[in-house]
Amino acid sequence: MKRLAGKVALVTGAGRGIGAAIAHAFAREGAAVVLAELDIDTAQQTAEHIKAQTGARVLAVHTDVTQSASVQHAVSEAERAFGALDVLVNNAGINVFCDPLTMTDEDWRRCFAVDLDGVWNGCRAALPGMVERGAGSIVNIASTHSFKIIPGCFPYPVAKHGVIGLTRALGIEYAPRNVRVNAIAPGYIETQLTHDWWNEQADPAAAQQATLALQPMKRIGRPEEVAMTAVFLASDEAPFINATCITVDGGRSALYHD
Ligand code: NDP
Repeated sequence: MKRLAGKVALVTGAGRGIGAAIAHAFAREGAAVVLAELDIDTAQQTAEHIKAQTGARVLAVHTDVTQSASVQHAVSEAERAFGALDVLVNNAGINVFCDPLTMTDEDWRRCFAVDLDGVWNGCRAALPGMVERGAGSIVNIASTHSFKIIPGCFPYPVAKHGVIGLTRALGIEYAPRNVRVNAIAPGYIETQLTHDWWNEQADPAAAQQATLALQPMKRIGRPEEVAMTAVFLASDEAPFINATCITVDGGRSALYHD
C-alpha cells in the first residue's frame, strides 16, 4: 500500500528544488499533486516529468504565494481537479540576506511577503476545508535559520522564526479538529538557492568547500532527504505529531564545534 494513496496534496514553489522533490515523493506514494508555482513553465516541465515517472495525477497551477487570492485560486483548482485537499506543503521561500542597517524597506517586505505571509496565505486558503472535514496535514518548510543565527543573513531568520510561531499557533488552534500543522527545518540542502548563495561569494568554490567542512557528515543534504520527512508528516504514520518541527540537517545544529 502506498503511504499517501488516495490523498490530494498541494505543494507551493514546487517547480524545482525541495518543493519539486516533495511533489515527486508524494506522487510516488500515491497522492494526486498540485504544483503551485510562480514560474509556470518550470512547474509544467516538472509536472510532466513526475507524471511520466510515477503515473500519478499531477497539475501545475500558476501561483504567487504573496497574493492570498492567488493561493486561494490554487486550492480551488486542486479541489476542482482532484477533490478535497488533504495535505498542504508551504515550501516557497526566498533568501533575503542583508546587513540590518543598510537593508531597504523593500528587502524587508519582499522577505516577509514570501517567507512568512506566503505560509500564512497557504494555511488561510487550506484550513477552512480541512477544519470542516476534520482532517488535514499542513507542513511548513522552515529552516535551521528558524532557531540559529548567521550574521549577515537578516531578515531571513526573522521570517523563518515566524514560520515556527505560525506552525505552533495553528497546530494548537486546530488540533481539536484533527488538523495537524508541523514544520521541517532543513539545514544546507543542495538546490538552486544554495548555488546562488555560493555564486554570490568572492570565491564560490572556496565558499562551497567551507560549507561542506562545517557539516558533521561532511556533505550537505539532498532535496529528496527533506521530501522523505514531508511524506512521513503528511501520511497517516504521524497522527499524533502536531505543532512541532523536525530538523533535517545531518546534525549540524547540534554541533558546538569540531
Ligand atoms: P529554490 O529557490 O530552489 O526553489 C524555490 C521555488 O519557490 C522556486 O521554484 C521559486 O520560483 C518558487 N517561488 C519563489 N517565490 C515564489 C512565490 N512568490 N510564489 C510561488 N512560488 C515561489 O529553493 P529551495 O528548494 O532551496 O527552498 C525551498 C524552501 O526550503 C524555502 O522555503 C527555503 O527557505 C527552504 N530552505 C532551503 C534550504 C536550502 O539549503 N536549500 C535550507 C533551509 C530552508 P522561481 O523559480 O520563479 O523563483
